[in-house]
Amino acid sequence: MTTPVLLTFDMDAELLWTARDPEGAGKPVWVSQGHYGPNVGLPRILRLLKKYGIAASFFVPGQVVERYPAAIESILDAGFVIEHHSHTHTWSDNLSRDQEAEEFGLAAEAIVKATGRAPKGWRSPAAELTPHSVSLLEEHGMIFSSNLFDADSVHLLDDRERGTDIVEIPFAWALVDTPVFMYTNRVAGRVMSAPSAVLETWTREFDGLVEEEGTHFMIGMHPQFIGRSSRLWVLEQTIKHALASGRAEFLSCADYAERVRPGLLAAKDAR
Ligand SMILES: [Zn+2]
Repeated sequence: MTTPVLLTFDMDAELLWTARDPEGAGKPVWVSQGHYGPNVGLPRILRLLKKYGIAASFFVPGQVVERYPAAIESILDAGFVIEHHSHTHTWSDNLSRDQEAEEFGLAAEAIVKATGRAPKGWRSPAAELTPHSVSLLEEHGMIFSSNLFDADSVHLLDDRERGTDIVEIPFAWALVDTPVFMYTNRVAGRVMSAPSAVLETWTREFDGLVEEEGTHFMIGMHPQFIGRSSRLWVLEQTIKHALASGRAEFLSCADYAERVRPGLLAAKDAR
């Protein structure tokens, strides 16, 4: 029995900062934190993934796809695909259906133009679904979502009361780099964690999950945070830990969704 290991990278670049602060674009230091992702963190991440020959998934907003063609090219050259992560990374909570539809459409267009492949899955830029998100996923023919925190295993996503054919691949804040590595001097109380503490959380999560059949181990990361040497050490040690167990199978989200979807749909039909 192997456990799927899904390494996911949300390459938000400066949009992570400008979407949260409308005046952020005029603040060079503020946005420079985001530039670090595609320019410095990403090449390190790609070298690490190549060293171990493992799969991963990249969720990239459409505007980042358009602004960083060389970074996107390097992801594609390394054999990875680009999934959907909105267009502008705006908090989607208060968007109308038309506004959110525009976010979906523009990003899908940018990804197809840059990569020749339509995205198969979506991660929200706001860690939340609106009442329109799921139907928009369906309209764009996507087969997976990676948003909920409700389980350690896949299931079909519901659109409130209505069941859908979209595979949800849940994750957890405990396996995301922002709560432990993102810092800003503009929000009181934010602290950064020691890499050793994060490694302990991630490897203990892995050790627990491999004992339970049907689970997966997914980490959510951002090149601008995980791409620093001290944090990349956490990722590399986690990869080594998973490989040493002999029970890890590194997969892209799209490949994992394709694999489990027929079984989930069959189980739904049988109900
Ligand atoms: Zn993001």
